[in-house]
Amino acid sequence: MYDFVVVGAGPAGSRFARSASERGRDVLVLESGEIGRPLACSGHVSRDVWEFVPDGARERLLQNEVYGARFHLGGADSDAHAFYKDEPVSNVIDRVGLDRTLADCAREVGADVRDGHTVTRVAEGPDGVAVTARGPDGTERFEARVVVGADGPRSKVREEVGLPEPDELLHGVLGFEPGADHGDRVDVHLTVPRFFAWRIPRGEAGAEYGLAVAPGDDAPARFEALLDDYGVDVEKRCSGAIPVGPPDRTVGERSLLVGDAAAQTKPFTGGGILYGMRAADVAVREVDPRRPATLDDYERAWRDELRTDQQLGSLIRAGYSMPEPVQRAGLRAFSGEIGVHMDRPTSLFSRAQLRALLSWG
Ligand SMILES: Cc1cc2nc3c(=O)[nH]c(=O)nc-3n(C[C@H](O)[C@H](O)[C@H](O)COP(=O)(O)OP(=O)(O)OC[C@H]3O[C@@H](n4cnc5c(N)ncnc54)[C@H](O)[C@@H]3O)c2cc1C
Repeated sequence: MYDFVVVGAGPAGSRFARSASERGRDVLVLESGEIGRPLACSGHVSRDVWEFVPDGARERLLQNEVYGARFHLGGADSDAHAFYKDEPVSNVIDRVGLDRTLADCAREVGADVRDGHTVTRVAEGPDGVAVTARGPDGTERFEARVVVGADGPRSKVREEVGLPEPDELLHGVLGFEPGADHGDRVDVHLTVPRFFAWRIPRGEAGAEYGLAVAPGDDAPARFEALLDDYGVDVEKRCSGAIPVGPPDRTVGERSLLVGDAAAQTKPFTGGGILYGMRAADVAVREVDPRRPATLDDYERAWRDELRTDQQLGSLIRAGYSMPEPVQRAGLRAFSGEIGVHMDRPTSLFSRAQLRALLSWG
């Protein structure tokens, strides 16, 4: 019997597998497809990402350094409110390469990572959990003390063990324009309902255009309108779901959710790479697979770790739906040089401002 069967080898699953294996746990990872594919992510992350990969990986994975953002209330030619720093705020990385690197890190410390295995059933029992997967050799059954649902926004594990869904699943669409773009600012357009559209310079990998909206808000048509507005065409369109708002419960009898499966994302950007990996480390620290009662410790601890930033992120997101004059005044008030850390919106505000903001939320 494995200590943990991890379902999904995205950033959260591979990070969990690596950290758990380093602690001497016996870990199997089942990934349905090819690791890192299909791509549905901008790979725009804070520089904290380098703490999660080996020395030397940065050179391979880094595509561009970003020093700030231009916020627009209109399209490509509209006025911009700039937020910037005199040093890089964030990095644009090769997301497929990141997933492969993280999976390799897990393998190197002993985790058994198998791609081509789609989990179809999870059954929790008093003494363990049975995980059924369809693989290259047909259907296989694995036993574990605890199953880890790191299987993304539409988590099969979540469904199988009867845990609730996230509050929202946004529909994100993106595409890449070939030709190098070494610009150092991203463009953010508050022109779609309750979220935003973006343009990201990706160095030699070109420029990326994207947006996310609620499923009823026709992401594909809005994406075409964004491309028309910029007067560009893109290669390689892709899309994916972005969960926002964690479910009320993320642990079962012998199961836990981590990463997008638990909506451990930033409500104001949809980014989940770093939050998912941080939560994975919390899970490894808190959960003893021989004592399933410790799952509740994870439930408490990951919420403590992310609560303030997620609450504040929700408030920032509420600003995307405010009337234009209010948005304009807000952008004017905050624009200019910033000290903000991309994953920690708390760094944008003073303690007193924070207390006031959180009491509204
Ligand atoms: C358009 C878009 C842009 C984004 N841009 C950013 C960004 O710039 N920065 C950022 O931080 N985040 C971004 N995100 C979010 C980011 O992609 C996710 O937060 C992150 O991938 C979550 O990692 P994860 O490991 O939880 O899940 P995933 O990366 O989704 O990994 C889950 C894995 O589980 C596997 N799986 C699913 N079901 C099964 C099954 N039944 N059996 C076996 N395996 C299974 C999948 O194949 C997948 O490999 C973006 C998302 C979208 C949609």
